Amino acid sequence: MKRLLFFALVLTAPAWAPAQELTLAARGQPAACTIVRPAAASPSQVYAAEELQRFTEQMTGVKLPIATDEAPLPARSVVLGDTRFTSEVLGGPAEVKGLGEDGFRLVRRGDRFLVLGGPVRGTLYGVYELLERFGGCRWYSSWHSVIPRRDAFTVPTLDETQKPAFALREPFWFDMFDGDLAARNKVNGNSMRLSEKHGGHSYRFGGGLGSCHTFDALCSPEVYFAAHPEYFSEVNGKRLKNHTQLCLSNPDVLRIVTSNVVARIRQDPGAAFYGVSQNDWYNYCTCPACKAIDDAEESHAGSMIAFVNKIAEAVEKEFPEVTIETLAYQYTRKPPKTIRPRANVMPCLCTIECDFSFSIPASAFKEDRAFMDDIRGWSAICKRLYAWDYTTDFRDYTSPFPNVLALQGNVQFFHTNRVDYLFEQGAYQGRHGDFAELKAWLLAKWLWNPDLPQEPLLQDFFNGYYGAAAPYARTYFDALHSYYRDPAHRPLRIFDDPRHTALTDDFYARASGLWQQAEAAVKDDPARLYNARLGAFPVLYARMARMPASEEITVWVTENPKRYEAPAEPRALAAELLKRFEEAGNIRLSENSGRHDEVLAHWKALANPPALPAPQTRAFVEDKLLSLSNRGTWGDTVADPLCEDGSAMKLYNTHYEWCATLPFSRVAFDPGRKYRLRARVCVEKEPGKEGEAFWAGVYDAKNRRACGGIEPKTSEVGDGYAWYDVAEWAPERDHYFWIGPGRFDKAGGATSAIKGMRIDKLELIRLD
Ligand SMILES: [Zn+2]
Repeated sequence: MKRLLFFALVLTAPAWAPAQELTLAARGQPAACTIVRPAAASPSQVYAAEELQRFTEQMTGVKLPIATDEAPLPARSVVLGDTRFTSEVLGGPAEVKGLGEDGFRLVRRGDRFLVLGGPVRGTLYGVYELLERFGGCRWYSSWHSVIPRRDAFTVPTLDETQKPAFALREPFWFDMFDGDLAARNKVNGNSMRLSEKHGGHSYRFGGGLGSCHTFDALCSPEVYFAAHPEYFSEVNGKRLKNHTQLCLSNPDVLRIVTSNVVARIRQDPGAAFYGVSQNDWYNYCTCPACKAIDDAEESHAGSMIAFVNKIAEAVEKEFPEVTIETLAYQYTRKPPKTIRPRANVMPCLCTIECDFSFSIPASAFKEDRAFMDDIRGWSAICKRLYAWDYTTDFRDYTSPFPNVLALQGNVQFFHTNRVDYLFEQGAYQGRHGDFAELKAWLLAKWLWNPDLPQEPLLQDFFNGYYGAAAPYARTYFDALHSYYRDPAHRPLRIFDDPRHTALTDDFYARASGLWQQAEAAVKDDPARLYNARLGAFPVLYARMARMPASEEITVWVTENPKRYEAPAEPRALAAELLKRFEEAGNIRLSENSGRHDEVLAHWKALANPPALPAPQTRAFVEDKLLSLSNRGTWGDTVADPLCEDGSAMKLYNTHYEWCATLPFSRVAFDPGRKYRLRARVCVEKEPGKEGEAFWAGVYDAKNRRACGGIEPKTSEVGDGYAWYDVAEWAPERDHYFWIGPGRFDKAGGATSAIKGMRIDKLELIRLD
C-alpha cells in the first residue's frame, strides 16, 4: 500500500514543483499535508494553524487538516510550535526559548516543515512569514489583501531563524491598529488591537499614565498649587500654575510623585512601563536648586533624570521588574553630563524638531545634527532606550508629505543606536493620510528587519495595492519625493503648510493628471479604483488649500451679484473632495479637530453656496456683521429694544480705538461707483462733560489714507439714536469702515466725555 501510494505520487508529480520543493497543497488534489500543533497550544498557536489553513485554502482551494501532537506524526506535515516531535524531526533540541516572544525558525526536514516559535507570537509570525514569502500573500491594509490563486503551495528546503530588530514595533497609523493587519505584518505595538489570538501586548504602559506628559496626573496644580506654589515651576521669578512643570528639586514633590506612582502600579500591576514625564510645553523650573543641577549637567535632563532616578529606586524595592519611562523631549533631549539613568529608567527620545525629507544621519539640517549627538549620548549611558519618531504632517494629514525615502534610514539609525522600542507616529485618527497605507506597511517591514531593501518593497506595494494604476502612482510618488532630494533644500517638517512647501502649482497640475490616468487604468477593478481615488486625495487637498482665499460675502449692495459668485474651479474641487471624503467614511484631515472641522465646513460652504441675493443698490448692515476687536474689553454685543433686530454693539468709554470694523472684502459692491455710508449711533452722554462723542470713517488700508470720516462733539449729538453720514466715496476691496468712542487726553488721568456708545446698524447706498 505504501509503495503504491509512493508510486502514484511520483507519477502525478507535476512539472511546476521542482524536486527540492515540498508541496503543502495542490489545486484539485487531496490535502498534501497535515498542519500539526501542540495539544497544549497557546491561543496564538491555535490561531496560527487556522490562519495557515485559511490562506492555503484561499490560494489553492485545498483545506489542510489540523491535528495536534497527541496523534502520531503524519508523514507529510507542517509542524507549528514546539511539539513532542520537535527534537525527533530536527535531530536535536529546538531551543525555542532563545527565539524570544516574537522570533521563529523555519526548517524543512524531508517531508516535514517546522515553524518553530514560542507560544506568545513567534509561531504565528513564522506562519505569516511562510505565507508571505512562499505563498505570495500580502496584507497591505485592513481592506486590501492580495492572496494569489495558485496551482500549488510549495516550500523550499531551508533552515532560517529570524528575530525582530525592535522588541516594541509600533507604526502608529490608524489602519494598522486593526489586530489582524498588525499581526500579519508582525507588529506588536500597544495601540494595535491585538487580542489573545494575536499574542496580545508585552510592553504595556500601565497605571493609566500612558507614555507621555504625566506630571499633571502625578502632582496636579489644581490640587496643590493654592497651598504649595513652590511645588511648581519657577519661571522669571514667579511660580506658575498654568502651563507649568514640577519643581524637581523639591523633596515634597518627590514624595508625592513617588507615592502616586507606586499606588498606580499597585492598582494596575503587570505592565512593563510606567511613565513619569514632563508636560507638553516648556516652562521648566528655574529655581536656584533646579537651576544648579541643570547648570552643572549642562542640560535640563539633569534635574529630570535625578528626579526620575529617585522614583525608580523607590519603585524597584516593590516592583523590580518595572521600568520607569520618561521623556527626553525638547528641553530635556540633551543627555546630562554626569548623571546616569538607573537600569530601570528608560528615556524616550523624540524627533519633533527634525527634517524628514532625509533620514536623520543623511540630513544637513541643524536639528538633525543635534538629534544625532543627543541619541548617541543617551545610547552610551542607558540600558534601555525608547524612540518616538514622527512620520506624517500633523497640520494636514492629507497633504503630501514626501518622507518615505527617509523612513528606512531612520529605522536603521535607531537600531544602530540601541533603541529597543520604536514608536513611529503617523496619522492615527483616521485613514488616508498621505500614502498612509504604504508608510504603515513599510514601517512594519523595517521595524522587523531594517535591512530589507527599499526598492523591492516599494514595487511590491505599488503593484499589489494599485494594480494597473501602479505606473502612474509610482511616477507621482517619485516626482513628489524628488522635490526634497536636494540637501540644500528647505527641510520637511511635521507642521508644514501645503501652501508654503517646496511643491509648486505646476507640480500639482501634473500630479492631478497622473492620478486621473491612474484612476482610468483601474476603472474596472473596484478595489484598486478606490485605492487610486484615495491616493489622489492629498493632491486634491493641497490644490484646494492653495486656492486663493476668498472671504465670505456678508453684505450685498450690488446690481451684479453674479460677479461675487465663487469661481467654478474651487467649487468643483470642494465637491470632489467631499465626495471622496464620504466614500472613504473615515478620513481625518488634521491632528487638530478644530482644524479638521473648519476645513470640512469650508468645503461644504464652497460646494453648496447659498442662492445669490437679488440685485440691490441699498442695504442695511446690522451690528452683528461688524468685527469687534478685544471683545469684552473694548465693547460687546448687547440687547437693545430700540434697535430693529433687538441688538446693538456697545463700545465702552475706556478707550478710543477703531475697534468696530467692516472690511469691504466682505461686501459685494459695484466697483468704480460712488456710495454713501451712514451709521445709526446712540451716544450715552456723561452729564456735565464736553468733548468728543465718537469718531468713524472709511480707511484705505492699501494706500494708507482716509476716504472720509466724522468726529462729532458731545454738544453736536442729541440723546438717543440718530443717523450720521460718515463718508461718500468709491469703495475698493482693501477699504474698511471703522468706528470708535470719542478721543480724550489720557494724560493726567483724564476720562472720556461719554459713558459709552451703541451702534445699531449701518446703511450703504449707491449714489450713481
Ligand atoms: Zn525648582
